[in-house]
Amino acid sequence: MIPQDFVKIMSASLGEERAERVIASLDSAPEVSVRVNPFKMSLSALREYFGDIAGDPVPWAEGEAFYLKERVSFTLDPLFHAGAYYVQEASSMYVGALLEKIFERMGRRDSFRVLDLCAAPGGKTTQLLSHLMSVEKGNPRNNSLVANEVMASRVAVLAENVAKWGCGGATVTNSDPSHFKGESFDIMVVDAPCSGEGMFRKDEKARENWSLNNVSLCASRQKRILTDIWDSLVDGGHLIYSTCTFNRYEDEDIVEWICSSLGAKCIEMRHFYPGEDRGEGFFAALMVKQGGGEECISSRKGHKGSSRNLSGLKVFESQFPMADEALSVNLPEGKYPTVELDRDSALRFLARETLSFKEQPTGYLLLTYKGLGLGFVKNLGNRANNLHPMPRRILSLKR
Ligand code: SAM
Repeated sequence: MIPQDFVKIMSASLGEERAERVIASLDSAPEVSVRVNPFKMSLSALREYFGDIAGDPVPWAEGEAFYLKERVSFTLDPLFHAGAYYVQEASSMYVGALLEKIFERMGRRDSFRVLDLCAAPGGKTTQLLSHLMSVEKGNPRNNSLVANEVMASRVAVLAENVAKWGCGGATVTNSDPSHFKGESFDIMVVDAPCSGEGMFRKDEKARENWSLNNVSLCASRQKRILTDIWDSLVDGGHLIYSTCTFNRYEDEDIVEWICSSLGAKCIEMRHFYPGEDRGEGFFAALMVKQGGGEECISSRKGHKGSSRNLSGLKVFESQFPMADEALSVNLPEGKYPTVELDRDSALRFLARETLSFKEQPTGYLLLTYKGLGLGFVKNLGNRANNLHPMPRRILSLKR
């Protein structure tokens, strides 16, 4: 059931006819879209991999993403586990276009210190990395990214997705927004926790949990988060504020409040609605901070985007550094003997089954699928210990 108060808010914002169209589309099937990992694969190679089910490009992320004509089992695709692509709701990919606008406004694409404050599971983080880091190894662009997630239960999946992206250049933290005092960033992405109207099509529970009271609680929390973090954005720095909800209380009203109370100018804001744009719906605004505070780094000499001092923050250390190393594109070639797996063996490895590599040298073996690192086994000769981390394993190989 679609909540009646939601219908009222939508009609007030969009007019009755348009609101009806958007709401009617909430009963149609959700879109599926994938975004390529440019550090691991080209877009054309990924399209070829998906073959006939590769569909139209995502219009606002043309160079990196496309829709799929049907949903496939990503869990049973070793290339997904190798980090060759991310399955991401299409409208939220607009963040990449906004980052490009910041580059354009600043006349450069390097020396940015970027914070992704509400980052798990890592959709925006991995897209930011695609735009911030260079496909040439070693991050010659000198950008740095801090990907933060306050919820301890969600930070491991964020770290895993960052590891899968494989390009380096990101630090994962697990801190409350109020703990960022004393840090400074040139760009901040606040993809705020919200009332989740953009989940209405996919998830019946999102409809049940929605209420006016929750909208108002979310709006207060969004203001609190933004207030906590504001001093850490340099003067002249850019803020991307986004939600996956449609109501003005968490969208336009928050942007107005940021501009009038915190001190910013809005450069653009955009709504994506299901039924109008191919996706589940999204809101994003680009703002520039004005007044007081540290100057924008474009006027400062000798800044290195990657030099960081995150003293007050809880940096998340991966529990599985070796598994992460296998996923890194910076792993020196030849460091480990490598064994290319077919799809079936790759899936058995990912499910932590015991494999044997009698013809291979003993010791650590790096296993790859289509040339991309998946993980390690320790080859003992007659059998091999599967070192794929337990929490990352595929639970069932049944379709
Ligand atoms: N940016 C993510 C992505 O693209 O995959 C999605 C982020 S989700 C919309 C919002 C995130 O904010 C959640 O991971 C949630 O745990 C986190 N969050 C919840 N309460 C928060 C708070 N008080 N301060 C900061 N983050 C919070």
